[in-house]
Amino acid sequence: MTQNELQVLVMQISKKYFGLPFKHIARFNTRLKTTGGRYLLASHDLEFNFKMANLPEFEGIIKHELVHYHLHIKQRGYQHKDLDFKKLLAQVGGSRFAPSLKQGQTTRYFWLYCCENGHNIPRKRRFQEKNYRCGQCGEKIRFVGQTSNK
Ligand SMILES: [Zn+2]
Ligand SMILES: [Zn+2]
Repeated sequence: MTQNELQVLVMQISKKYFGLPFKHIARFNTRLKTTGGRYLLASHDLEFNFKMANLPEFEGIIKHELVHYHLHIKQRGYQHKDLDFKKLLAQVGGSRFAPSLKQGQTTRYFWLYCCENGHNIPRKRRFQEKNYRCGQCGEKIRFVGQTSNK
């Protein structure tokens, strides 16, 4: 998504869900690490996390920031704790929190199983080992523990 596409998307969401125009700037800020977006009180601009632009939750993040934006401009309660904020957020279906981008996302955890011939069987989910046999040799499987591929 380009800077310009972001601007257009924010303007469209503002029109569609808030019935109001977004008249300021929406931009990507590469310094945002774990936050999805933020509203700048001084300039009324919105900044978004580029890494979240491809997530299905991104529209919810834009709505969240637009709730801050429109309420602040109308001089209503624009902070998370305010009733106005909570009401409008629920009304437009904005996300309450940005999805968290965990540090070290490449680390995946597996449940490790092993058969009687020593074949390792890593699985993302646990299962009842007594119901299964090793795919390579057909022997019984036992549970070893949790592991990571880090
Ligand atoms: Zn917020
Ligand atoms: Zn085996």
